[in-house]
Parts: sequence; structure tokens; C-alpha cells
Amino acid sequence: MRTFDLIIVGSGSGNSLLDERFADWDVAIVERGVFGGTCLNVGCIPTKMFVHTADLAAAPADSARFGVDATLRGVRWRDVRDRIFDRIDPIAAGGRQYRAEGSPNVTLHQGTAAFAGERVLRVDPGDGGPSTLIQADQIVLATGSRPFVPAVPGLAEAGFHTSDTVMRLDELPARMVILGGGFVAAEFAHVFSSFGVEVTVVNRGDALLRAEDGDVSRRFTELASQRWDVRLGRTALRATRSGGVTSLVLWGPDGEETVEAEEVLVATGRVPNSDLLEPGAAGLDLTPDGRVRVDEYQRTSLPGVWALGDLSSPFQLKHVANHETRVVRHNLLCPDDLMASDHRHVPHAVFSSPQVASVGLTEEEARARGVRHVTAVQDYGDVAYGWALEDSTGFCKLVADPETGALLGAHLIGPEAATLIQPLIQAISFGLPATELPRRQYWIHPALPELVENALLKLPLA
Ligand SMILES: Cc1cc2nc3c(=O)[nH]c(=O)nc-3n(C[C@H](O)[C@H](O)[C@H](O)COP(=O)(O)OP(=O)(O)OC[C@H]3O[C@@H](n4cnc5c(N)ncnc54)[C@H](O)[C@@H]3O)c2cc1C
Repeated sequence: MRTFDLIIVGSGSGNSLLDERFADWDVAIVERGVFGGTCLNVGCIPTKMFVHTADLAAAPADSARFGVDATLRGVRWRDVRDRIFDRIDPIAAGGRQYRAEGSPNVTLHQGTAAFAGERVLRVDPGDGGPSTLIQADQIVLATGSRPFVPAVPGLAEAGFHTSDTVMRLDELPARMVILGGGFVAAEFAHVFSSFGVEVTVVNRGDALLRAEDGDVSRRFTELASQRWDVRLGRTALRATRSGGVTSLVLWGPDGEETVEAEEVLVATGRVPNSDLLEPGAAGLDLTPDGRVRVDEYQRTSLPGVWALGDLSSPFQLKHVANHETRVVRHNLLCPDDLMASDHRHVPHAVFSSPQVASVGLTEEEARARGVRHVTAVQDYGDVAYGWALEDSTGFCKLVADPETGALLGAHLIGPEAATLIQPLIQAISFGLPATELPRRQYWIHPALPELVENALLKLPLA
């Protein structure tokens, strides 16, 4: 059995762990699928390339109210798809080749790693070939997560897509049913409806983006319902396929109903890939929801075994995986001076239409935790650039401590929300008081960040 200094399982964030300081470490990387992980191949990057294209495709339909009569003449789906993947696929292939041939201290193993002992892994190439046993003093588990598919009778036989496959469709369907009401569902609903697909969103809960601040979730659900056929409070009972059409029988407030579409996209959340690692074989501790349990230094319950990213994180966000990668890298290199991960102010964004972005406490969380707080809401429609955009639905909502002026939460829904929120993330992260933030710097007039400035000025603070 070959012994390495370090084994990294998973080539997403795990692959970016190595820098020049590991040049004299004997390292193995194990990857079971496409090199480069979720973000690059089937996550953040391609989805946002599709979202920007969808924004362009949606613009003509919105232009008449500005006095501009534009028409969308068509969407060349295969050209859109190929432009995106012709850029991404070579990056994944190049990354793989670099690790396979261009990194002298790195051995790339293609296959699925599972524990065969405390720091021993069995790598199954998955092609019927023999498994290999490898071991190391240090192991980093970075195996991510995969789409969760609910057990709907008939769905597997009828066929369905997940975010892993839907971006590679050969043809745009006339209709698509999207199961789920989170960010993946919201982003793909925007993408496919902008390209002319008739979208039905089926969600078990009574609102979309339910983890957001209540006002944001309600506004998003309201706007989504104007654009898509949104069915809330529905459970999928069974699916059948005939003549190229899938019929999905739902149970809802009025009993059974059926929705039909050429394609079904399942976007009902993601599960950590901990099971594939066969954690029981080594006694690796998991959380009740199946994540690998880690402490603040990203150490698992096994000595010398670390975990990061979607495998262990409840956030399932790339910027969190990146942060944890930096923490594990430091801790491997400086074992006597361990660094802790900082998960206090993790922001996120939803790149749908409208965009949504958030950091810190929602109003509901502040109330439930008994945290003293005040709120302020500033509409896009009441700042100068909001007039230019003719926006009548977006807003920025802030939650702050009335006594200290500390910002506790920020929630935006509207154009460029994911970009506009950054000064508020900065304020929360660096403890800049909401009283000083709008007053001790210039805010360019009449740029969109005036939305943030005015929201801050509206907070009823001493
Ligand atoms: C559609 C979509 C859109 C997203 N958009 C955003 C966004 O806009 N912003 C954002 O912050 N996040 C976004 N995310 C989430 C983001 O992609 C993930 O949080 C991030 O990629 C997780 O990185 P990771 O390194 O933990 O795992 P991954 O990048 O998934 O890497 C894990 C790797 O491990 C491999 N693997 C798994 N098990 C084994 C095993 N046993 N042996 C060997 N290899 C194994 C997998 O094949 C995979 O390549 C999105 C996700 C999806 C699905």
C-alpha cells in the first residue's frame, strides 16, 4: 500500500488547497467524476453564465415601458449552451491534465474513495478494475454534495433532470416542471422561462425562498407567481410518461391535480456525499443530517482527517468552501498555530429575477432569538437610479441594534442585489456602525448604492 503525506478526496475546493508550500509534500488527489467539482462544472459558474444570457433574453419583453420597442427574435439554445461549456470544459480538462501530468508531487487517482481504516482509503475506479489502497498521515475530505431526489413513484422511469444535467439539454422543451422552491429552482426558472420555456414551479412549502427574510420571500413569491405557474403547498404523488410528456400528479389544497411538461427538473436540495466515503468503516462522526462533523479548525473526529465545503458545511456555498480551504491549508502547514473558520457573517445571493441577497439575521430570526432590533426598508423606486430602472418592486431591508447601532442583518431584493449588498457585508464583518456608514463616506450620486445609503439613514437609531 502506497503511503502519501497528504490525500485530498474531491477535486473541487480540494484541488485549490495545494499551493507552492506543498511542493515537497507527496500528495494524492482522488476524484470520482469530472475534475474541478460542482462550482466549475455544474454549479455557480455555468449557472451564472446562463443567468446573464437569460437577463439579455428577458430584456426586450420589459423594454416597451421605457418607450423602446424591442423584440426577442430567438434564442439559439445550442449556441448558448456550447458557448458556456466550450469555455468551462477545457478548464476542467486542463485542471485534470495539470494534476495528472504537470504536478510532479501529485498523484491523481480516478475513482471513488471510501474508508478502509482510520487513515486508509480504498479507491474503486468504478470500471470493474481492481481497487487500490492508499494511506496518509493527513487526509482532507472535500467530497461536496449531490442533488437530493425525492422518492416520487414513477419519476425515475419517466426520467428527470437535476442541476447536474439540465444545462446540457439538446433542445429547449416547450414546458418544464421544476420541483423545489429554493435558489436552484428560482435560478433555473428564470433561465428557462427567459428562453421561452413555459415553467411550472411546484413547491411543498407555502412560499418560495423560504429561508429568506419573510418580506423578501413574500415579495419573491408574489413576483414569481406573476411570471411562472407557481403551485405552492403541493406534494408530488406520482409521475408517468407518454408521448414525450411527463404527467406529474400533485396533492395540494384542492386535492389531486396534474401538471404536464416535456422535461422535469428536480431541485429539491442537496445531500452531502458522506455516504460514499463509508464513514462507518473508520468511525468517522456525522451530524444527524449526514454531514461530516468538524470542529472550528475543520478537524473531523478522526485524528489527521479534515473536512471542508459542502460535505461538512450547512451553508453549501462556494465562498464558504473557499474560506474553509484556506483554513485547512493553514492548519496543515502550521499545526502548532491552528486557525479557526469564521462562519459568523456568511452572505448569499440568488441570481434569479429579481436577484436576492442577504447577510446576517432576518427580522424573524431577531424576534425568535429575543434580540433587540429595529428595521428600515428603502424601496428602489424611491432612489434616483431606481427611477431610471422604473423599479417598483425591489427594496433593501435592514435589521439593526437600536442601542449600539450595530447592523445585524441586510436583505435585498431587486436589480444587482448581489453586488449592492457588499458594503453591508463589510459593515457587519468589520463592525462599522450603521450610524456612521452612510455619513462618513461619499455615495456616488445617482448610483444604485444610494439605495443602501438611504436604507441606513432610515434606521431609527439614536
Ligand atoms: C446549480 C448550482 C448553483 C450554485 N450556485 C452557487 C452560487 O452562485 N454561489 C455559491 O456560493 N455557491 C453556489 N453553488 C454551491 C457551490 O457549487 C458549492 O457550495 C461548492 O461547489 C462546493 O464545493 P466543494 O469543494 O465542497 O464540493 P465539490 O465542488 O462538489 O467537489 C466535490 C468533488 O468530490 C468528488 N467526490 C465525491 N465523493 C467522492 C469520493 N468518495 N471519492 C472521490 N471523489 C469524490 C465529486 O465528484 C466532486 O468533484 C451552486 C450549486 C449548484 C448545484
